[in-house]
Amino acid sequence: MTEVAVERFRALTPSEFFYRNKELAGFSNPARALYQTVRELLENALDATDSHLIKPVIKVIIKRDEVNEKLFSVSVEDNGIGIPYTHVPKAFGQLLYSSKYVLRQTRGMFGLGAKMAVLYGQMTAGKPVEVVTSPMLSRRIYFFKVAIDVKTNTPRIVERGSYVKGSGWHGTIVKISLEGDWMRSKSKIYEYLRRTAIIAPYADIVFEDPEGTVVYFERSIEKLPVPPREVKPHPKGVDIEMLKMMLSSSKAKSLKEFLVREFQSVGEVTALRIISEAGLDPTLSPREVDSSGVERLVEAIKSDNRIKPPKGDHLSFVGPEIIEAGLKSVLRPEFVSAITRRPSVYAGHAFIVEAGIAFGGEIQPSDKPILYRYANKIPLLYDEGSDVARKVVDSIDWGNYGVSFPAPLAVLVHICSTKIPYKGVGKESVADVPEVQKEIELAVREVARRLRRYLTKKRREREEAERAVAIVKYIPEVVRSLKKIVHDLREDMVEKELLKMVNMRLSTLKINSVDEVVKSVE
Ligand code: ADP
Ligand code: MG
Repeated sequence: MTEVAVERFRALTPSEFFYRNKELAGFSNPARALYQTVRELLENALDATDSHLIKPVIKVIIKRDEVNEKLFSVSVEDNGIGIPYTHVPKAFGQLLYSSKYVLRQTRGMFGLGAKMAVLYGQMTAGKPVEVVTSPMLSRRIYFFKVAIDVKTNTPRIVERGSYVKGSGWHGTIVKISLEGDWMRSKSKIYEYLRRTAIIAPYADIVFEDPEGTVVYFERSIEKLPVPPREVKPHPKGVDIEMLKMMLSSSKAKSLKEFLVREFQSVGEVTALRIISEAGLDPTLSPREVDSSGVERLVEAIKSDNRIKPPKGDHLSFVGPEIIEAGLKSVLRPEFVSAITRRPSVYAGHAFIVEAGIAFGGEIQPSDKPILYRYANKIPLLYDEGSDVARKVVDSIDWGNYGVSFPAPLAVLVHICSTKIPYKGVGKESVADVPEVQKEIELAVREVARRLRRYLTKKRREREEAERAVAIVKYIPEVVRSLKKIVHDLREDMVEKELLKMVNMRLSTLKINSVDEVVKSVE
């Protein structure tokens, strides 16, 4: 008789799951892990500063281990809001623990980033994460060494302590040791920092790499973006499961009160309309709505075309001034322009698209526009080919805008939203949602038109200058001929006068003298 195989069932903790599927969060190999660690810690540092109107001062240090050359430590220091010490162990030692699980635009929001780096470090270097932090009003500085207990997804505090703060310092230092591959991640890490400096030129970022090279991305604008605000969900953005959860946790006494209180864009009239369309009783307690009631509510919301769209005034866009400053300071182009579109909506989520364009100067000519993609101020480096922004930029006939390739042209596209339509969990490319695609196209075409105006004007001015040079050559000739008729003509004075007039015209074209044009034509 054959033995019956018995399947053994059990559940994984989130830590075990991500331990087995590290690549889901971008930790697939030592090179990618080093890059991803820098990225996660830097994004946390920026979230802890600019979202709270603090001008970021950030120090990123990668060091190679003196004994084992495969090991590195990544340390990121910020001057942000700090972390209350009671939250430190879970913030770094329990996967899916976050302060960002609210409807507010932040860089992080999966509650994973820092922990994945900690977990990877623990697996490869066997060391706990080191955290030093002091919240803004705290009088102490706290330090922790935390490891993750994978089997239970709970933090294990290896060491902790605190001391009295002598200075006004606030912020956080996080240090993670891990196996990395510097040679294979170097260019990506540098590119990531460069792109961060473009979108956040209000930050001071110092980077020390394992070879001892120090790069300073100096703040080039004092202005900060308006911080994001937390919002209530929009009814068009919820599905059956989310509505069920909201109904069961709401403190509202009636279904009508629930809809008005828990959602944006819903007043009493709208609430009553939705409830009656769903065939429910507005006085029903939210907890009494059964499954079919929930389904009917979602259906009623979906088919209601009179609900006001989400407003988007809670989103934190960067703004044309900051984008232009960033493009200027990092790319050093000859022309730059940027635009922030008005909020738009897809599937009940508000979003804002921004675009920037930079041309000439120190930008290296290439066969198609260089594209800088951002989502909620995060640079996206991978999967460019499948991103909607690439698709839009490639579909544009740049010849119509006066650009023929190879050309020194860079385009920046930034999308901000409380829900970015990413293509995968890697958060590296944005899906081609029609509404988003349309906004990107409108934004890019607008800055492209500005570039065309600039290029057209420049060409005309150059043509005029060249004409001036051609004419100037004849001045002595003309004056000599005149002398034959007007005998007392002061040749030198007339010649000087005429030249002066031409030079004045040239200076309105921002060209200093005829000599300059002669030189540039030669
Ligand atoms: P996420 O950023 O997605 O929330 P993380 O694992 O990266 O997840 O971080 C967990 C939490 O730890 C954050 O939500 C934040 O509250 C806190 N945190 C991490 N780094 C910092 C920092 N540098 N300053 C302040 N808080 C931080
Ligand atoms: Mg994070």
